[in-house]
Amino acid sequence: MSDTYARRAAELDRADGLGVHRKKFVLDEGVYLDGNSLGALPAHVPARMADVLAREWGELRIRSWDESGWWTAPERIGDRIAPLVGAAPGRIVVGDSTSVNVFKAVVAAARLAGEGRDEILVDATTFPTDGYIAASAARLTGHRIVPLDPAEMAAAAGPRTALALVNHVDYRTGRLQDLPGLTAALHAAGALAVWDLCHSAGALPVGLDEHGVDLAVGCTYKYLNGGPGSPAYLYVAERHQAAFDSPLPGWNSHADPFGMTPGYQAADGALRGRVGTPDILSTLALESALDVWDGVAIEDVRAKSLALTDFFLECVEAYVPAGRVVSVTPEAHGERGSQVALRCAEAPAVMAELIRRGVVGDLRRPDILRFGFTPLYVGFADAERAARVLAEVLADVPAHLPPAQV
Ligand SMILES: *Cc1c(COP(=O)(O)O)cnc(C)c1O
Repeated sequence: MSDTYARRAAELDRADGLGVHRKKFVLDEGVYLDGNSLGALPAHVPARMADVLAREWGELRIRSWDESGWWTAPERIGDRIAPLVGAAPGRIVVGDSTSVNVFKAVVAAARLAGEGRDEILVDATTFPTDGYIAASAARLTGHRIVPLDPAEMAAAAGPRTALALVNHVDYRTGRLQDLPGLTAALHAAGALAVWDLCHSAGALPVGLDEHGVDLAVGCTYKYLNGGPGSPAYLYVAERHQAAFDSPLPGWNSHADPFGMTPGYQAADGALRGRVGTPDILSTLALESALDVWDGVAIEDVRAKSLALTDFFLECVEAYVPAGRVVSVTPEAHGERGSQVALRCAEAPAVMAELIRRGVVGDLRRPDILRFGFTPLYVGFADAERAARVLAEVLADVPAHLPPAQV
């Protein structure tokens, strides 16, 4: 049986137009299905960083802020991320962590929403940091948090809703939320839509401008391969830029930063989202890493991502005895991100053993096995092998018996 799937995997890999990109990354003989947590290293980045360290910092020192383009890196790199998430130039600025950008976006959106709107809807299954930060932002601004399933938000939004903060793809289940529909429903209620793109940017088309998203944030170390802790980004729709009032108005977002004046005056455009001196080493590693997207259409990435997750699910169904794992990732393509999450009673032991056998996914406690599919460097043979090794591991890890039977 595994022959059939292995043969199909080989055929699919031969026909895969994105397969050529795999050699751009540093990989080993294992199967890496954790690019939704930390993207692999693009092979050309170390040489670029050696130059940044030795020449730009070592030799040019302070001159690099101008001569090497350090000062303008946050907006320059924002413009490189923009096409991947469907934004025009001038709407994205890179810097700080996603957590910090969630804070900027939630407070700024609450201010944009105006008086009388005292509720912030938050994705009840959100990645925790978004929820923690939104709760603190709400305390500062005098708003009330309303935790909701994103599917209930459209109906719940009303005259008291200031904004909704939603994860585009659920980090645990891999469910893709309806960004166009929910954004439109929030607007119909007079509220703003703030989207967290951590698990969608670089994996599927987002269409920020097209769908009228108000504000968005996302990280760059997952599907964008920027490196551990690489800076996040903030998107501000053009229509909000003039009124965007950052709760962290650092000197980097001043209209004349080197005027060093006591009064704050915001710069124009997305760079209002800047705060202080950018983390240049990480920022430039990210910029270099983005080279792998040259000539890549995000629609092709999406098509391959769906084909990979379909094929992986099919292999799991064929190889794994019924009942040992249950997929919690939606079947429908329109509701699926770029990962497969399998519920498994023995998940901790199974993931540890999978990693030991060269198939790297991750565990979300208590019982979720998470497999991320990054189409630029994961192929169909990887998907088949991961499912096969999973079945082997499950054969070796005894099924958990309910206490009555022990
Ligand atoms: C990965 C992720 C984060 C991470 O936030 P950091 O500030 O970079 O630690 C935040 N939100 C979501 C939805 C994520 O998936």
